[in-house]
Amino acid sequence: MPNHIFGRSTKGQLPTAVAGDGCYLIDSSGKRYFDGSGGAAVSCLGHSNAHVRAALHDQLDQLAFAHTGFFTSDAAEKLADRLVAAAPEGIDRVYLVSGGSEAVEAALKLARQYFMEIGQPERHRVIARRQSYHGNTLGALAAGGNEWRRAQFAPLLVETSHISPCYEYRERRDGESLEDYGLRSANELEAEILRLGPESVMAFVAEPVVGATAGAVPAVAGYLKRIRDICDQYGILLLLDEVMCGMGRTGHLFACLEDGVAPDMITIAKGLGAGYQPIGALLVQGKIYDAVASGSGFFQHGHTYMGHAMAAAAANAVLDEIEGNNLLSRVREQGDKLDAALRAEFGQHPHVGDIRGRGLFRGVELVEDRETKKPFDPARKLHAKIKANAFEAGLICYPMGGTIDGVNGDHILLAPPFIIEDAQIDEVVTKLSGAITGALA
Ligand code: PMP
Repeated sequence: MPNHIFGRSTKGQLPTAVAGDGCYLIDSSGKRYFDGSGGAAVSCLGHSNAHVRAALHDQLDQLAFAHTGFFTSDAAEKLADRLVAAAPEGIDRVYLVSGGSEAVEAALKLARQYFMEIGQPERHRVIARRQSYHGNTLGALAAGGNEWRRAQFAPLLVETSHISPCYEYRERRDGESLEDYGLRSANELEAEILRLGPESVMAFVAEPVVGATAGAVPAVAGYLKRIRDICDQYGILLLLDEVMCGMGRTGHLFACLEDGVAPDMITIAKGLGAGYQPIGALLVQGKIYDAVASGSGFFQHGHTYMGHAMAAAAANAVLDEIEGNNLLSRVREQGDKLDAALRAEFGQHPHVGDIRGRGLFRGVELVEDRETKKPFDPARKLHAKIKANAFEAGLICYPMGGTIDGVNGDHILLAPPFIIEDAQIDEVVTKLSGAITGALA
């Protein structure tokens, strides 16, 4: 078959996916793959969900697209109402886009415009964290702290500096309590603000549970509260990027609800459309919207497909399923079972250093030496071998290598559909175990 499409990998032809069936994807040879990572934490309802399909057919029969420069739609308005009702305190405006990078990009531009509108034009810097990913467009890439992604595109458009990722497995000192570590990690923000000059900083960006770049590393208790206080003290906006960890993945519709923190802005995507439509959203506190509305009256941003009725209809149907089937409590239950199964399988494994996460968002970090936590040599590309072995065995998981500086080890992220059954948890762990054993051999 001719193959004119190019994606990330230029190394050869990928299998052709032809169907989805619950937690499984099926290729053109009939092989079934358990979708243990939803691609990248996208397919929270699994594939071919009947309710979402019916909702999309209905929406298509009514209206597919009307440009947001002229119209709103019932589907988009309904979605915004539902997101605001479920969001942390103070969030009351929604900006609908088509994915995660667009949402982060919009957040950075809105933060900049907000400070222009309120007469603090010198605030332009962003502080984020090492080992973070916030998207691939130039602004979002600048926010991310993943050196190998940034390096070839430097100098980047948004001036960003990076602090501790709040990664207790690697950074907590012997004898230091979790709480003390959380505060020490958060206090790096204050030191960085003072170093840069508070009047020049506009936003701090972080994922409550770090996904792709670290493998489901949750903020330790108290960390985000201290971050919130520091942002308030210096008049800096707190942007929580929940593109991967949001929309129920951790067992709460917004991950930060578990941390008891209300950010100024939240970005969501992936699970919002659950793979049925491309959609993302930026949610903001009223004070930010009001400053624009009562100032220039126009947010200097926009995309053709924002607020797309089909995308909004898909997201509404996803929310129907989450609410109607009590999926948040199911995520917590099945997440605990997945955690227990991972610990039973890998708890004593000589090369598994850490097992972590929240809900159905779990990570396993591999190390050469459990005592010293020394990562494997990145040149071994252990993560890539695990991914290939798992795929061969019919399991899709999301492995990533250590960072370029070799600080952290190869890790595997699991983000299965919320509908995962007990027997499928065993299937995932067994296949993953075989893939790791094969890669280490
Ligand atoms: N932020 C985070 C935390 C992400 O994990 C991602 C995607 N992996 C993005 C932003 C970018 O989202 P998208 O790929 O939809 O542009």
